[in-house]
Amino acid sequence: MSEQANRCPFGSFRFYCLYSWLVSMDNPKAEVREHSTFGRGVFAAESILAGEAIAMFDGEFYEEGDPDYPWEVDDYVLQFAEDRWRDSKGIARVLNHSCQPNIGIRNAFRLIAMRDIAPDEELCYDYAMAEDGQWQLDCQCGSPNCRGRMAGFAALPESVRESYQGFISHWLVEKYQLDSTWSGGPVDI
Ligand SMILES: [Zn+2]
Repeated sequence: MSEQANRCPFGSFRFYCLYSWLVSMDNPKAEVREHSTFGRGVFAAESILAGEAIAMFDGEFYEEGDPDYPWEVDDYVLQFAEDRWRDSKGIARVLNHSCQPNIGIRNAFRLIAMRDIAPDEELCYDYAMAEDGQWQLDCQCGSPNCRGRMAGFAALPESVRESYQGFISHWLVEKYQLDSTWSGGPVDI
């Protein structure tokens, strides 16, 4: 990938970047900036209110075992079923994880603000709001309550789960037989 292509937050190709801007589901107050730890991140350019839509996983669908699965998207996709993932055409694929998130999952593919967010705050969700499975990664989110390891929803402490009520992916709500309020309402995709 060329240096120039690297500067496009949405993909390797400039026409695809332009397309993403035209059809974007992204909040115009959220912008991609350089990040000292993770290379890139999404930040609030101005104040964002609790409940505002931030971004959307509105891209390609992938299924486990797909022989054509492009592994380069592995770090960007969102899990929405036991064996299915979806990419984003916009800034959602650049959002970093935090153990102290300020945005969360609404239904399955939408990300919304959990609280009011001040200008220049980084927008982060907890990947365990949508991901499950046996994987684990060291966490470098730097939040005061960092769990040290990123892992799936099953590994979340009960108190953390409860604090995410309304912001958990619909498929995890069904899998763990939680009340429908945990996903913020019926699926609207
Ligand atoms: Zn952390």
